[in-house]
Amino acid sequence: MGIRIYKLAEDMGIENKELIETLQDLGIDVTSHMSTVDEETADLVKEVILGADEEAEEGFENVIEFEEGMTVKDLSEALDIAPNSLMADLINLGIMATINQELDFEQVEKVAMVYDYGVEEVENEEEEEDIYGLVNDFEDKDENLELRPPVITVMGHVDHGKTTLLDAIRKTEVTAGEAGGITQHIGAYQVEVDGKKITFLDTPGHEAFTSMRARGAQATDIAILVVAADDGIMPQTIEAINHAKAAQVPIIIAINKIDRPNAQPDRVKQELTEHGLVVEEWGGDTIAVPVSALQQENLDELLEMILLTAEMEELKANPSRPANGIIIEAELDKGRGSVATVLVQNGTLRVGDAIVAGLASGRVRAMINDKGERIEEAPPATPVEVLGLSDVPNAGDLLEVLEDDQSARNVAQMRKNKMRADQLTGNTTVNLDDLFSQIQQGDIKELNILVKADVQGSVEAVKESLLKLSTDEVEVNIVHGGVGGVTETDVMLASASKAIIIGFNVRPGVNARKVAEKEQVDIRTYRIIYKAIEDIKNAMEGLLDPDYKEVILGQVEVRDTFKVPKVGVIAGAYVTNGMVSRNAQVRLLRDGKIIKEGEISSLKRFKDDVREVREGYECGIGIEGYNDIKEGDVMEVFDFEEVKRTL
Ligand code: GDP
Repeated sequence: MGIRIYKLAEDMGIENKELIETLQDLGIDVTSHMSTVDEETADLVKEVILGADEEAEEGFENVIEFEEGMTVKDLSEALDIAPNSLMADLINLGIMATINQELDFEQVEKVAMVYDYGVEEVENEEEEEDIYGLVNDFEDKDENLELRPPVITVMGHVDHGKTTLLDAIRKTEVTAGEAGGITQHIGAYQVEVDGKKITFLDTPGHEAFTSMRARGAQATDIAILVVAADDGIMPQTIEAINHAKAAQVPIIIAINKIDRPNAQPDRVKQELTEHGLVVEEWGGDTIAVPVSALQQENLDELLEMILLTAEMEELKANPSRPANGIIIEAELDKGRGSVATVLVQNGTLRVGDAIVAGLASGRVRAMINDKGERIEEAPPATPVEVLGLSDVPNAGDLLEVLEDDQSARNVAQMRKNKMRADQLTGNTTVNLDDLFSQIQQGDIKELNILVKADVQGSVEAVKESLLKLSTDEVEVNIVHGGVGGVTETDVMLASASKAIIIGFNVRPGVNARKVAEKEQVDIRTYRIIYKAIEDIKNAMEGLLDPDYKEVILGQVEVRDTFKVPKVGVIAGAYVTNGMVSRNAQVRLLRDGKIIKEGEISSLKRFKDDVREVREGYECGIGIEGYNDIKEGDVMEVFDFEEVKRTL
């Protein structure tokens, strides 16, 4: 049984990338964070990496501790010398620094060497308290931990058979089970295979998966990637792979529709290798199972592979403690009040327990399982409908059992207060405008970027140029790159990975923009690659010129077009959102791609020239010197706003 790369890296407190590279240097064949190594190799690489650190410190009698943000003054105290003489030494080393200036590790190491001190880096433990996280921090003793069922999410391209597969697996349970085969749709269900349970989340696709992650909750243990054998890897397949990789969950491939005469399972395997997933029979460590969801063929093997992977992951929980879990979905039911589907993650949830979930609190009044039966207790990895919460929590909120109703109410109230305060101050997401100060404060070591463009060639070009911007302080990391407009899903992935979004010749839709505003995700769009690269580079160096910022005023839909002699083509348009102002600029979009940017040449209501038209009204719009407007196009209306420098 092997050890997963990402787990080993986590154990060692290093990045996956460093571990993989070291292993490759040692001649060990690993391809991704999902690869496995045996214990012997793990020990070897630990010695190589961690041993090297220790060795470096050897030879010094005295060692000082370096902490992020260490100033000249801190260092003088650590070395027990006067700040002035330290500053003189620094100058000799070519470092001009004032007494309160922060030093980086290399600088500290250089000076320490002069005084014959070694330097050891210690993690800065100060983390902001996560108010929405769990209140109680139980330490589970090993002897209380028991294996629990794995939790599975099914992902893949549209129409590749995710829903059919989920239904087919559910049916294996129904035919095997007794109770007349009625199942309840509660957002998740469990099946039993060889006496072992598997929990499936019922919302296929990576959108739900990632929006939960964006809230800091990870429900899924294993991702099933459905790829149709007659269609191969498609854009959403790649998205799904990237989403699963970003979450570091193992991926099992279900090559579906093998009953189709034009099925080419080998082609799918070939294409998978291009995305770092090499199937076992070709020497890799990715499990791929050919299935037909429609004809329910080979599903038992898929289920067995899930159990096998789960075994490798050693998923454990402690059923004997108070429960905590994740809200999978929740709604207000007319008769029953707030109904939340909870996936119990640890402990056992019982009727009568006092609970808090996000901003909602209450007491478990009743629980209903996926077979529609009332149950009294729900052990780890069980999905249940819970009645009894005061409000409707959000999907992705953590649920927790507390001592009594009063404590649950207090926690919910405290969160509401904190949320209000957060809304007033704005919280810390990554933003190009203050990227430099975040880098300086050491808040960012990795700049995560999500790239969307109109054609694949541009995606690659932008990605490549951006990767080259990595410096010693900040590593630029591309979370995902794809063709098409910026979608809500992109925004959720960016939010989950604290990434910014670069759109090249594409725009976010209205919904994506709304979500981005809510999640405070920075979306930057460009028409020239050079400009995008320059902006990021400048932002990293603190040179971004924030004088003018684009503001979106509104969006209109072109419902008709008219040719007006001597004037050109006028769009008969409807303002779907915001407003149009005569002085603003417009951007003509077709399928999320930018066709033209320009000035408004005329804005009319009926026959009259007007200065602005508001949401919900129709108008006629002309674009200066441009006639190729088509029905169905969308116009984004924007203007520039002066931004005051904050520095
Ligand atoms: P989703 O969008 O990924 O959820 O895909 P669906 O489950 O809705 O399936 C899309 C279409 O593919 C439907 O018409 C299914 O009947 C069909 N389909 C799904 N699985 C199979 C299969 O194994 N074989 C064949 N021939 N068709 C399938």
